[in-house]
Amino acid sequence: VLREMQKSAKPIDRDSFTILECIGSGQFGTVNKGVVFLENQSSICAIKVTKMDSGDDILKEAGIMQSFTHANVVRAFGLCSDSGDIFLLLEFCDLGDAQHHLASLSQSDPVPMRIKIMILEQVACGMKYLDDMKIVHRDIAARNVLLQTPNSHNRPPRAKVSDLGLARELDEHSQYTKTSQSAQLPVRWMAPENIMDFKANQATDVWAFGITAWEILSNGMMPFESLKNKEVIVLLTNPNLNISTYLMKQDHWSDDIYRIILDCTAFEPDDRPSFDMLINDFTRIVRNLGRL
Ligand code: ADP
Repeated sequence: VLREMQKSAKPIDRDSFTILECIGSGQFGTVNKGVVFLENQSSICAIKVTKMDSGDDILKEAGIMQSFTHANVVRAFGLCSDSGDIFLLLEFCDLGDAQHHLASLSQSDPVPMRIKIMILEQVACGMKYLDDMKIVHRDIAARNVLLQTPNSHNRPPRAKVSDLGLARELDEHSQYTKTSQSAQLPVRWMAPENIMDFKANQATDVWAFGITAWEILSNGMMPFESLKNKEVIVLLTNPNLNISTYLMKQDHWSDDIYRIILDCTAFEPDDRPSFDMLINDFTRIVRNLGRL
């Protein structure tokens, strides 16, 4: 499988890119800003660096991302392996991830509600695209939504789904893909059936999207902040859970937008909306607010 993935990722020569400063650290290594020279053009990029022996997920991520082209999914330029290191070159998102971006502005210059809803609309579009491609993301969260400065003033930032390290192809026959039990699991974003049986499919991505929507509307707050991971597991696997007690609505949120969060986090997977339905909801809400 790995060889397959490596084959599908475009190889990039080590001389074709330069690493600049470190901009983040992930589970498996660092993320740096860099410049890549391809086809007589130089572009700013983000470079994920991982050791060859822990590069499993990065190879899968590269393979998956390379085959996608969508405005709301981070694009991969290609992959380089050199002297024991693996470098994954990605489209650069200058504003970083939505969780840090919104949290850093929350006191000084909070992002207006309408812009946040337009960010969510874009995330839903990226997720629908992955869903159409039969890909389960499995780790959608505000930290994995990357933002780019808009082209013109007063437009929302361009939002892109990233970090497909955990993404898997959906098994058509079972409708579920198994989550490995050994990996560090994002329990605060996981649907009850995902926690109980390690089942992941579109409905578990929709649940995680609901949690992501809550994070974005709350300017990057941690979901279930007062609870430890173990307590979150107990809470989420209780069928009588009233999630609104934990993912609280803030006064200035409309009922419409809060309804989306509650619908996405319905205990029964079949009761959750599809990404198509979510896009329609966001489009309607944005229209009612007056598009920018
Ligand atoms: P990991 O998958 O190893 O956890 P991430 O993909 O979450 O790593 O990246 C860690 C951090 O690096 C992100 O939260 C973000 O701030 C930064 N980052 C990652 N990819 C990019 C990118 N394409 N453009 C800009 N910043 C990025």
